Amino acid sequence: MKKISLLIPVYNEEESLDALFTALLPLLNNTHKSLKGAKYEWEVILVDDGSNDHSFDKLKQLNARDDRFKYVKLSRNFGKENALLAGFDRVSGDAMIIMDADLQHPVETIPEMITKWEEGYEDVYGQRLSRGKESIFRKIFTKTYYSLLNKSTRVDVLPNVGDFRLLDRKVIDAIRALRETQRYTKGLYCWVGFKKTGVDFQTADRVAGKTHMSPGRLINLALEGITSYTTAPLRLATVLGFVISVLAICYMIFIVCKTLIYGEPIQGFPTLICTILILGGCQLLALGIIGEYIGKIYTESKCRPPYIVAEESISPDTDIRNSKNDDLPR
Ligand code: UDP
Ligand code: MG
Repeated sequence: MKKISLLIPVYNEEESLDALFTALLPLLNNTHKSLKGAKYEWEVILVDDGSNDHSFDKLKQLNARDDRFKYVKLSRNFGKENALLAGFDRVSGDAMIIMDADLQHPVETIPEMITKWEEGYEDVYGQRLSRGKESIFRKIFTKTYYSLLNKSTRVDVLPNVGDFRLLDRKVIDAIRALRETQRYTKGLYCWVGFKKTGVDFQTADRVAGKTHMSPGRLINLALEGITSYTTAPLRLATVLGFVISVLAICYMIFIVCKTLIYGEPIQGFPTLICTILILGGCQLLALGIIGEYIGKIYTESKCRPPYIVAEESISPDTDIRNSKNDDLPR
């Protein structure tokens, strides 16, 4: 029987977890009507990303109630992307489905994803038809962001597609092999390639609690996305520098000729100050961009592990890490 793993990152979700358990049971018992009688072996890997509420106690309770619910507790909040990697390292299924703990990703869509997987697709992503309850700021920001990101790279990152997806074992292993600490998983799915298809879903509202993605965190993730996915901003800085230098040389020639022909009365403060400000601004911008990338090189060069586990219910001998990819750099 094929095995399917569910990977769910959990950060301060104590109020959502009971509802999540109830919602998943029909699937795990293979009694969900949309499975149409298909039978799979299931496991649920819940990664506690350093919650500071009672989420972890809840995870332990779930594990006691049903041992298909396994938990991994990270030593602090490493962020969703790294929590996902902890899960990637532990799932043992032939396929894996990633979903949020807040039930914004409907369980009803999962059988549809499995059908596509059985048809031979290796990466079945959920495509949001609507974005649920979200601020106008976030909607506009997301739209502009993706159009900019996709203009700057060869491998497109799909808009309206998030972490809700089914991955075949091949894709799981490919993504596990990418050990960067500053992760932008959404870009990695696209970068590794494989046969992809989408299924539509309506984003539900959160069952409880509120989103952890504050505008600040979103902007950070967006910058992370750009700088870890493309070096186009560096190219932009070069092009900008080149264009400004050409303009500056033309202007210089103009000034020299003008002075030679008409002489130069002492004036020109506004021109001078504008030029200094524009050039200064461009230089700072370029330095900032270069700094972003140097910062990334610095962090990656320390080769720190992307996450640290404090406690887990997954016993090492059933752990996929021991059988495959054991020589991965960590
Ligand atoms: N999450 C996490 N670590 C974090 C932030 C979020 O593991 O630092 C989890 C969270 O528990 C949820 C999922 O990531 O299961 C999505 O988070 P959230 O619902 O806050 O984001 P949104 O749906 O608003 O994008
Ligand atoms: Mg959510």
